Amino acid sequence: MKFLQQDGMFDRQRMTDCCGRSSTYCDHALCCKGCYREVEHGQGDGGEYLSPDGKTLIGHNLRYELDLDTKKWISVEITPPTLGSVDVVEWVS
Ligand SMILES: [Zn+2]
Repeated sequence: MKFLQQDGMFDRQRMTDCCGRSSTYCDHALCCKGCYREVEHGQGDGGEYLSPDGKTLIGHNLRYELDLDTKKWISVEITPPTLGSVDVVEWVS
């Protein structure tokens, strides 16, 4: 898996496995902008990010955790927060 290393809002975004590029829709399929082959959702489309500790892949509805023994990613279902249950707090430095 490839992730973008860049300061700002796109930091640690997952890129395409093949070329490490972003992706775009062509003929209703998600395609790599490097080689224009079809890729899975989450690759280069801004849907998946790596957590700061590098051990968790965060997606829209799924989270993947790295099993350190098998070196495989295990999917963990996330229950999205319900409307009104999210608290917005002020940043305190
Ligand atoms: Zn590619």
